[in-house]
Amino acid sequence: IGGGRDRLRIAIQKSGRLAEPARALLTACGLSWRESRDRLFCYGESLPIDLLLVRDDDIPGLIRDGVCDLGVVGRNVLVEQDIALTRTGAGPAFAELRALGFGACRLDIAVPDTWDWQGPPQLAGLRIATSYPAILQRWLDDQGIEAGVVELSGSVEIAPKLGQAEVICDLVSSGATLAANQLRPATTLLQSEAVLAGPAHAFDDARGALAELLLRRLDGVLRMRN
Ligand code: ATP
Ligand code: ZN
Repeated sequence: IGGGRDRLRIAIQKSGRLAEPARALLTACGLSWRESRDRLFCYGESLPIDLLLVRDDDIPGLIRDGVCDLGVVGRNVLVEQDIALTRTGAGPAFAELRALGFGACRLDIAVPDTWDWQGPPQLAGLRIATSYPAILQRWLDDQGIEAGVVELSGSVEIAPKLGQAEVICDLVSSGATLAANQLRPATTLLQSEAVLAGPAHAFDDARGALAELLLRRLDGVLRMRN
């Protein structure tokens, strides 16, 4: 896959919570595709706008590397990787172009449900397990709290039971997973939903007009849905 400058390439999740709604939204914008046999690449038919089907965590990096022009990804993933990249001194890497109205969830601190929650200072000196270490560390810094950040890639909600941490910082939608693990939400670090993400700088070729056309159609579809 090379870097065609006269076609726009959008990365979406291959399978998972955002896969279907992302595709449905782009279809509602009048896009259609011819699927390749490897199910990685979908060639745009109605417009020169192609899809790349990938893991959600890979989407910011693909935009950053110029492999893709835009992506549909949770704000939680975008902000996490943006903070991590900004720390390396490269400046903001990504722009959130539109909030898309699906995939809503929160990044919460959750504590054992027997605790009497007194507020963030209570976290001082504790270990907090999370898959979002950059967002968590920035929040702790903002609050002036020193706590241990234990980075886990999955099953964060069982970390207290395993003795890896006292509390967790994880995505919550219904709260059922927390409740099943004797945890309860204490405070929210980030309100998230699926967003259309792009690079921090505008396109300086034919992709600019395509992106504008897509955004115009997207705004029409989003307005109808609300
Ligand atoms: P992939 O295989 O692409 O890495 P994944 O398992 O990381 O998939 P999903 O579980 O499909 O990803 O979640 C994708 C996004 O859906 C999350 O990053 C988040 O923005 C959103 N989301 C909405 N509700 C929840 C929830 N309850 N738990 C986790 N993610 C949620
Ligand atoms: Zn993922």
